[in-house]
Amino acid sequence: MNETWVAGAETRFPLSHLPYGVFSRESEPPRVGVAVGDSVLDLGALAGQGLLEPVADFSAPALNSFMAAGPDAWRATRARLVELLTTEEERTGVAEALVEADAVRLHLPFAVADYVDFYSSRAHAENLGRLFRPGSDPLTPNWLHLPIGYHGRAGTVVVSGTPVVRPSGQIRPPDAERPVFRPSARLDIELELGFVVGVGSELGSPVDADAAPQHLFGAVLVNDWSARDIQSWEYQPLGPFLGKSFATSIAAWVTPLEALEPFRVPAVRQDPEPLPHLRAAEPTVFDLDLEVGLAAAGMREFEAVSRTSARNLYWTVEQQVAHLTSNGTNLRTGDLLASGTISGPEPGARGSFIELSWNGAEPVKLGDGRRRTFLEDGDEVVLRGRTAGAGGFALGDVRGAILPARGDG
Ligand code: CA
Repeated sequence: MNETWVAGAETRFPLSHLPYGVFSRESEPPRVGVAVGDSVLDLGALAGQGLLEPVADFSAPALNSFMAAGPDAWRATRARLVELLTTEEERTGVAEALVEADAVRLHLPFAVADYVDFYSSRAHAENLGRLFRPGSDPLTPNWLHLPIGYHGRAGTVVVSGTPVVRPSGQIRPPDAERPVFRPSARLDIELELGFVVGVGSELGSPVDADAAPQHLFGAVLVNDWSARDIQSWEYQPLGPFLGKSFATSIAAWVTPLEALEPFRVPAVRQDPEPLPHLRAAEPTVFDLDLEVGLAAAGMREFEAVSRTSARNLYWTVEQQVAHLTSNGTNLRTGDLLASGTISGPEPGARGSFIELSWNGAEPVKLGDGRRRTFLEDGDEVVLRGRTAGAGGFALGDVRGAILPARGDG
């Protein structure tokens, strides 16, 4: 690929990435942009100059119109952006549509339709099984046959940087007979990879795994904040509810699926073989290195507390789509499908504090001698992702700091 003339692309947002987001400057309304180097390219301004085919409403405060336009429109737009950013012919006009990245505010990139959270990392499912059902098989009997998931709360998906207020809820203290209502003392993160649906599907018609990529617009890192003490008291028999619904953070920049295609690698062989409706011709996952960073309250720098890989996912996003639609449920533009916590088999590759601290029994030791089991007020977490190997790119990161609980809780 040719080099771009935009400054900063060697170190930040190279031409091979070109993620989409929604930005605003000062009091101007939010609109669609693309991150390149140290700049954000204003797609509405480009279309206004006649430099970009208006395949969608690029002046909208969300990517949904563009996401719904489909793979041909996505490919054509991306190819045209590469052309505009590498050649000299339209450089003056393109430069006028560039905004300094440090001068913009980033918004939630798309209106979330439905949010589904899966449980697709085998090491994570086994770790939680060992913690909560000691002495029995760490995997539930269904786990190897279907990608387990639940519907989360779309309305509390927030953009990276949004602070998270410590939730209060009903909690049953250890050995107590009755619950109390109080701030969560076991506030946790979950490192996940989310895929965003662009093109919807027809109600009643399942989408098979091999057709799923035609519906997927791109990917974001996801932090599925979790209050373990609220969750453990409420989750039986209907699953997570208030222990998860208070906030879910996503990156401000959506990485196009096309940019991730070169980083597909074969998925682990599934044994037993899934039922025919969950099979793909060649199941693949993405070779992305992932990291959890923590800046403990009062500290300025993040330190890595976990390093893992998206290769550790047993169920692929295509199989998640096939499972989700297997009963006739349709996909909608803006659906967010998150992988579930991604953990690897090694202790340093666990994607949540409940695993890293083994349910509080083995605190995580930080560089300055402090220890953490779960998050404290003032702590800030960053999730980072990068394509494996040389010449790749970093995904948009996901940050969030913990604010104290509010009210009497
Ligand atoms: Ca989760």
